[in-house]
Amino acid sequence: MVHLGVDLGGTTIKIGLVDDEGKLLRSLAIPTALPRSAQAICQDVVEAAGRLLEAEHLTWEQVGDLGAGAPGTVDPNRGVVLYATNLDWWDFPLKEELARRLPRPLPVYVQNDANVAAVGEYLAGSAKGSASVVVLTIGTGMGSGIILNRRMLGGHYCGGGEFGHMVIAQGGRLCSCGRKGCLEAYASATGLTNLTREEMERAPASLMHSIAKKQGKVSARTAFDAMKAGDAAGSRVVDLFLDYLACGIVNIINALQPELICLGGGVSKEGDTLLLPLREKVSREIYGGSHLPSTRLQICTLGNDAGMIGAALLGRMQELRD
Ligand SMILES: [Zn+2]
Repeated sequence: MVHLGVDLGGTTIKIGLVDDEGKLLRSLAIPTALPRSAQAICQDVVEAAGRLLEAEHLTWEQVGDLGAGAPGTVDPNRGVVLYATNLDWWDFPLKEELARRLPRPLPVYVQNDANVAAVGEYLAGSAKGSASVVVLTIGTGMGSGIILNRRMLGGHYCGGGEFGHMVIAQGGRLCSCGRKGCLEAYASATGLTNLTREEMERAPASLMHSIAKKQGKVSARTAFDAMKAGDAAGSRVVDLFLDYLACGIVNIINALQPELICLGGGVSKEGDTLLLPLREKVSREIYGGSHLPSTRLQICTLGNDAGMIGAALLGRMQELRD
């Protein structure tokens, strides 16, 4: 059997064909092409899935199930997207709308995209073999997916598990959610870019200016690239960013102490440059001290495919739960 995984985004929709082990066999991307109706998007997704099967010389008879990850708050039990800003969806019955367009009856699963990424890493990526993992996706925003003792934790009303919106600086920077001082406002790619801009203003001689000019804009990469070239102001930005991120991670460890915390999203591509100093900062602050065994920090391994692979494995996650 193969499994279809759909990663719904505001700009692009990615659809992947995954085997029982979570290996991505083939994928394709279609534009979300907003503004258009959610029903039209569902129709497009099912048609694209048909083309994907054809390209692999497979039929719908060989498909075991279909999973979809959506950005926003999702009720996985009813299969409803409660709210997705990027797609402008409110109370959209995604599961039902996909299921009724399929050429044959199949189980359909839906989840929030950060939870889907966590399922991917848990069953087929960096956290394979662990029982408890928190996956932090450091992108434009900050998403988090929590699996504790082999169960997804999403809160009683499906809106919980949002570590990006945990306040780390009371009365601090304004966050996209309207609250002040959230982890996301400091330790997402957007937060890092803001920290970089501020330091650039203070340091007119910093290499960050020429790097940003060459890259066409100030981005989450600017300070890291400047630091690698020996720039002191760049190092200061990265150090401050890592302090904020470490603060959030220590809070997660102190609350849940999962076996693993895996970092994904664009900023995680920095690899050891991010991970090694972060481990050091975290170990200095965790409750109980660094001499006791505690949560390991890793980089996610599925990269941009985590959404498709995780979505395709939502059925498997459900089986493990039941
Ligand atoms: Zn927030």
